[in-house]
Amino acid sequence: MEDAKTYPPFEVKQRLKADSLYYAGKMGSLFYVNLRDHKVIVGVRCPKCNKVLWPPRSTCGQCFSELTEVVAIGPLGTVETYTQVTYSEPIHPRQAPFVYGVIKLDGADTGITHFIDETDFEKIHIGMRVKPVFAEERKGNILDIRYFKPI
Ligand SMILES: [Zn+2]
Repeated sequence: MEDAKTYPPFEVKQRLKADSLYYAGKMGSLFYVNLRDHKVIVGVRCPKCNKVLWPPRSTCGQCFSELTEVVAIGPLGTVETYTQVTYSEPIHPRQAPFVYGVIKLDGADTGITHFIDETDFEKIHIGMRVKPVFAEERKGNILDIRYFKPI
């Protein structure tokens, strides 16, 4: 009998294919459509906390208020933290090395993780001002912002 410590892996080779249609929700739809069609980045203001959250969502994670006030933020922002990825994984949208940073856009109280590019890793620092570089052909996903670069 096989036990839980030394069991042989049981694997089934298969190929899955499923056509699907993903709904990003009300706030996610507003975010992606504004980004794709207008190169405008939006957040949402909490009426109780008065914080502007990015990316926008329908409920405040702090006070659970319903969020409905969509506001334009950025496009300039500030690096809050960063790291260099030195190895590649299939899940990464880029080959290493590359830099991820948490970017807080002007007018927002939260940041989002995105690429920092067009600079040397040694020049990146917390507090560095950055601006987005938009994709020429935008598809309605977060990579419509290709990356952020120093101002
Ligand atoms: Zn709130």
